[in-house]
Amino acid sequence: MLPTEAKEIELRGIGASPGICIGKAYLVDREGVKVVPKYFVNPDRTANEINRFKKAVIEAKDDLRQIISGMPEDLQHQTNILETHLLLFDDKMLFGRTVDFIQNDKVNAEWALKTVVGQIKSMFQSMEDQYLKERVSDIIHVSDRIMHYLTGADTIKISDIDKRVILVARDLSPADTSQIQLERIKGFLTDVGGKTSHTGIIARTLDIPAVLGLVNATALIRNDDILIVDGNDGVVIINPDDKTLVEYEERQVRYQAYRSRITRESHLPARTADGHIVRVQGNIELPEEVVSVIDNGGDGIGLYRSEFQYMNRTDFPSEFELFDKYRDVVEVMAPNPVTIRTLDINGDKALSYANNGNEVNPVLGLRAIRYCLQNPEVFRTQLRAILRAAAFGNVRILFPMITGCAELAEARRCLEEAAESLSAEGVEHNPDIEIGVMIEVPSAVIIADQLAELCDFFSIGTNDLIQYTLAIDRSNRNVAYLYDPLNPAIIRMVKHVANVAHRKKIGIAMCGEMAGDPIHVPILLGLGITEWSMNPHAIPVVKRMVRGLSTIDAQKFVKEIIDLTSAEEINRLARERFSVHINSGLVIKQE
Ligand code: PEP
Ligand code: MG
Repeated sequence: MLPTEAKEIELRGIGASPGICIGKAYLVDREGVKVVPKYFVNPDRTANEINRFKKAVIEAKDDLRQIISGMPEDLQHQTNILETHLLLFDDKMLFGRTVDFIQNDKVNAEWALKTVVGQIKSMFQSMEDQYLKERVSDIIHVSDRIMHYLTGADTIKISDIDKRVILVARDLSPADTSQIQLERIKGFLTDVGGKTSHTGIIARTLDIPAVLGLVNATALIRNDDILIVDGNDGVVIINPDDKTLVEYEERQVRYQAYRSRITRESHLPARTADGHIVRVQGNIELPEEVVSVIDNGGDGIGLYRSEFQYMNRTDFPSEFELFDKYRDVVEVMAPNPVTIRTLDINGDKALSYANNGNEVNPVLGLRAIRYCLQNPEVFRTQLRAILRAAAFGNVRILFPMITGCAELAEARRCLEEAAESLSAEGVEHNPDIEIGVMIEVPSAVIIADQLAELCDFFSIGTNDLIQYTLAIDRSNRNVAYLYDPLNPAIIRMVKHVANVAHRKKIGIAMCGEMAGDPIHVPILLGLGITEWSMNPHAIPVVKRMVRGLSTIDAQKFVKEIIDLTSAEEINRLARERFSVHINSGLVIKQE
């Protein structure tokens, strides 16, 4: 196919993995078979048709098994995603319903599969939970693979690509992305997907630029079109003119030089100009992201969102499964700390098998610690796994959504009981771990002094603290304009919590998104936050910002802004004062 007419087009999507690359487009058609035939089969042939379907499922499974066993060493951690795909082949919803459909409607297997997938798709897409919505792509990948064997269509073989290209796809499955060879693929972009999609996770792991959620990229881009992928800003430019090309080539060179400089520096401690050291750590959702924390110079893991290990499956993980994954992370990070947050499900992260019976307002419902205290077996399994992993390194535990002392005391009691049960069974563990409380609900801020008596550190979760303090649903676009960490109410809350922690001589950390934005560094430093945790890619930029500041100046700056009445004013003043530091970082957005 000829490239599109050389007219420059700019597309905007979600920057899922940072970096800039320029190259030729290579379209991969994830849809595989476009036209699915429909025909009826004789009632006495339905058993044959069902067998044809089952045979295709077996072939597709074998195919996937081969991909799993041939995965390169450095992508072995992705096998659990593919193992989940293997489970999906036997899933009642997909497999059982397709068989029933052939049986009842007497139609061919391809048509039955297509119809069932369509039904599952609309069921998932009407869900509010973004993560679950994105899981529909797993089902599509599996059905594509079965469809391939039913129809004998060609599949993409990314591993066969023999030129340096930028992949363009409607979607890429983990199996597709696991075939990516870094020396061939410069970057990739997709129509669908978001930051929490597996594709995004793999892009970040591979450290290649990626922009997802572009909606219609595959309709606009043709093979061999020249593309610019800017994963920092989520921008894709098709057929750039000479001026744009030169501009982005320069940006690319500057970005690469900048990244390698700050990443090199990032392995040193974050020491302020007047000699104070703060700990800059990474947030992870999955154990494999630990690599990114280390590569970016993280001083530990300040937030391990443990619930992601419970997603994408049909039942709770066992104690051993959890322990095994925790131990990996803990051993790799030792002697640096790994802060494992106990299960924070429901709210905006529902699990299909731990349903609350459709709460009207799940964000205010049986979420996080509330769920765990009402489901002691689930909680106990996780607590035991954490205590066992603690024998292999530096583990801290963090309880989410604590609203009062009774809850915290009860959580502590459960932890003690878990330790006692391990001792009684003679299982190796470490009961002596630091206990932290997420400060993410206004009541916790107000009674911080009481909570401090029962814990070793606070970790401020600004994502929820802003949501609950300012009454802003954090996933509602309509009120997103109100969502600002520099809101005076939030700054005062952070100040209060930090002061209490200092007075009570306990640790004070922040793991909400506020901590990962360099413009907030002077304020957080001035407020006395000593531990920060963020998306691993933000670590080098934040460490760099810390090095350029003195604590005394940061404290003076906080005095200046603490009585200002709007987030805009605070933001403007911070930018005026610290623009020198900010502008020196190419990745930092100005607004
Ligand atoms: C927070 O609420 O700030 C936080 C870090 O937790 P999560 O984003 O997982 O709710
Ligand atoms: Mg939270």
